[in-house]
Parts: sequence; structure tokens; C-alpha cells
Amino acid sequence: MAEIAYFCSEEIAEKSWMIRNFGDATPAICYLVEGKDYSLLIDSIIGIGNLKAYCETLTQKPIILVNTHAHSDHVGGNFHFDHCYMHHRDISFMQKSYVGITKEVIFQTAKNMAPKEISEMMVPDDNFTDWNPIKIYPLYDGDEFDLGDRKIEVVYVGGHTEGSIVLIDHKTRICYSGDACNGNTLLEFPNSTSIVEYMKNLLHFKEHQSEFDKLYGGHETFSDTSIIDEAIETVAKVIAGTDDKCEETGMLGTPVLYAAKKKKDSYGREDGKRFNMSYVPSQIYGPAKTKQVLDAKQLLPAQPNNQ
Ligand SMILES: [Zn+2]
Repeated sequence: MAEIAYFCSEEIAEKSWMIRNFGDATPAICYLVEGKDYSLLIDSIIGIGNLKAYCETLTQKPIILVNTHAHSDHVGGNFHFDHCYMHHRDISFMQKSYVGITKEVIFQTAKNMAPKEISEMMVPDDNFTDWNPIKIYPLYDGDEFDLGDRKIEVVYVGGHTEGSIVLIDHKTRICYSGDACNGNTLLEFPNSTSIVEYMKNLLHFKEHQSEFDKLYGGHETFSDTSIIDEAIETVAKVIAGTDDKCEETGMLGTPVLYAAKKKKDSYGREDGKRFNMSYVPSQIYGPAKTKQVLDAKQLLPAQPNNQ
């Protein structure tokens, strides 16, 4: 049987690759950046295929994994690695979501997301792996990955999740922005921050705006940085109550509001701007969530029943 080409990649800048599953067929995107001393993998997408083995065909340097946030379409390939780095405010969510997940579950999820012709060929081989207790190292705003000849800075932009970050490569002037600020920024989740807190973090993001020229996100890319200004303008309207408040059903099947009116049957905004966001009104001011609670259920695998 022909080997399944789970990944494809494109060099977007010097020693910097965009990696996807099956081209455009699956929307999640991750990035590999090679330095003199080591390579940094930014996100691990949805867990289809052995991403670590694929990255080793692109770089001979040791690979360090960092996640922009803990959603399943950004951490799905983490368990082929023995570690990851993520913002400390997403660690609890990561543990809660993944402890005990089996290879079969990851395989089935991946199978459901793959294009039909690939899905039919897939078998639960070494391209899939069980949850295992990898080390998760906490990141904080301002931390830096020093790859030897390039430095990549962590900037905290919590909103979409409490621990969302972006990573700025100062050598190529690229910002790897995950889901922090894009055309469909979802602020509707229980672990999203309040909208007011998101605004504070966007203003912090804007302080770094002069340090990069484009955004490479987890689902789409932007060839300039003006989406940050559009985000601040849109969020200000939400806080003031003057946004378009378009009712839709959210990802969790519950009602959400979209801040800007979309074109009919389209994802784009009616006014031609690119930033848009979903939210639930009760989370505009929301309770400030500043701590993680690490109880045993979140940190330890389920114990076998001995009786
Ligand atoms: Zn996400």
C-alpha cells in the first residue's frame, strides 16, 4: 500500500516552514523554525500523522515544541514529543482535556477530520500515539527562545483562551499568532478571558506591532499587521455595546454574538474589514480568571479499579 503523505510544507522565510496536513484540506497550520542550535516547532496541529518524524525530514537540529494555546487543533501531535512549552494559564486546560486519551480516540478523531480518500486508507499505526505524561514547561510574557542565531519572543495575548500567546521571530519579522487575533476569533469559550481582559492584552500586543510585518496564524495568514488595529476597534465597540451583535450558534452549540455583520453566506465582514469575533454577553466583563487549580483529577491518569 502506498504510504500516506500526511503532511506537506512550504518554506515561507529563511529556515522557516509552514506545515499542514494534506494541503488545504485541513485548516490547522503549524510552523517549524530552524536556528543554529535547535529548531522550534510552533503548534502540533490535529494529531494526524507523526509530525515529529516529518519535522525531522526538514531539520537535523533537536526540536523544541511550543504551543500557542491548548486547543486540540494545536496540540494534537504533542504526544509524539516528550515535552512542550505553553503559557502557564493554559496548562490546567491541557491536562484536563488530554489525560488518559488513547491512541484509538486520537485515531478516530483524525479519521473523521481527514479527507475521505485518505481516511479510508488510515490505520492506527505509529502515526498515532496514546496520551503520555509529557513534561509541560510554563511560559510567561516576555520569555524568549534563543535558537542560537535567532530569538523568538513570547508575547501574551490571552483572549481566545486564557493562555494564548503569539511568538515573534525577530530575524524574519514574522509573528506566529495562533488563534489570538484573526478573522474568526472565538471568545465564546468557558476558558476564554473576559472581553475587557482581551482588550488589555490586545493593547499589549499592539506595543509589539512595529517588530513584525506579517502574521502567520493557526488557520490563516495576514500580509500586514493592521488586523491588530481592527481588533482593538471592534473590541472597543463590543465593550461600548455599539457592535453589530449578530446572533449565531457557537462552536459549543449555544447562542453567541458576532461583533461585525458578515456578508451573506460568507465568512468575510460586510464592511470589508477582516477581524471578527464571537462572544457571549455575560463574558464582556466576566470574572477575572487569574489562577489555575491543579487538582488530582487534572494531573493524574485515571486509576484502574482494583476491586
Ligand atoms: Zn483555538
